[in-house]
Amino acid sequence: MNYGAIEAGGTKFVCAVSNEAFEIIERISIPTTTPEETLQQVFAFFDNYQLDAIGIGSFGPIDVNLKSSTYGYVTTTPKVAWTNYDFLGAVKERYQIPVGWTTDVNAAALGEIKKGAAIGTESCLYLTVGTGVGGGAVMNGKLLQGFGHPEMGHILVRLHPDETYKGTCPYHENCLEGLAAGPAIEARHGKKGHHLADEKHVWEMEAYYLAQALMNYTLILSPERIVLGGGVMKQEQLFPLVRQEFKKMLAGYVQVPPLDEYIVPPALGDNAGITGCLLLAADSL
Ligand code: ADP
Ligand code: ZN
Repeated sequence: MNYGAIEAGGTKFVCAVSNEAFEIIERISIPTTTPEETLQQVFAFFDNYQLDAIGIGSFGPIDVNLKSSTYGYVTTTPKVAWTNYDFLGAVKERYQIPVGWTTDVNAAALGEIKKGAAIGTESCLYLTVGTGVGGGAVMNGKLLQGFGHPEMGHILVRLHPDETYKGTCPYHENCLEGLAAGPAIEARHGKKGHHLADEKHVWEMEAYYLAQALMNYTLILSPERIVLGGGVMKQEQLFPLVRQEFKKMLAGYVQVPPLDEYIVPPALGDNAGITGCLLLAADSL
């Protein structure tokens, strides 16, 4: 049995093939260009194998509603070439096998709960803080979705008292993503995040926003664990700052697990998404 995985990101696609035990046999990385060009390379890679199922974790927004006529499409993405593109349909047309379909962050949540930092729990929220902010979750063992998928990066937050920046989100300006994603840090402080490691106020402000988001997710979903990934979270000093701010904001209102076990980095590192896609492939059988 072989599984195929497509972790479809806005800048790159990572594809992998694994055996039944989810051990990766081969993986490749392809720059994201047009759908036709990108998928041609994906197919060239998968054509070398006899696959039994494929799992796709895609950038979005995407249509995950089985009742929808555009189920499987990438919908309103700012990446114009991919707008209203039938991504799932193209993969299914090429390979007549089951194909699992969800968001990149839902796939990462699945990877972390089954093989990573949230093993042993029934519910895990995964938040990536990178070029954008996005969250996915597995709740009671199932991927979280309703009429669509969550868009946890675009929630509204209170402004930090020292905030000077208007926000980067083209839809909402100062939503969480608009204030806390990597490009917002760069625009506010004039330097990329990895050049700001020693600037304490940068990470205190970042923690102020992330902690508010985690408080909201906690109050709404009550996940057993929250995994924070993405490039910005490579600033490890953020973890204690986020936990501290979270504790202060929550003010003891609800009982939460010990914070150093509740708010954690991914155990799978950058492999959370691709691992989740392999698991999704298996689940689709
Ligand atoms: P993507 O979101 O495109 O998948 P990343 O998760 O790597 O990719 O996020 C890229 C963003 O994270 C950029 O804005 C970059 O400046 C920021 N970033 C990457 N590495 C670091 C780091 N070590 N410290 C702070 N910010 C970082
Ligand atoms: Zn927004």
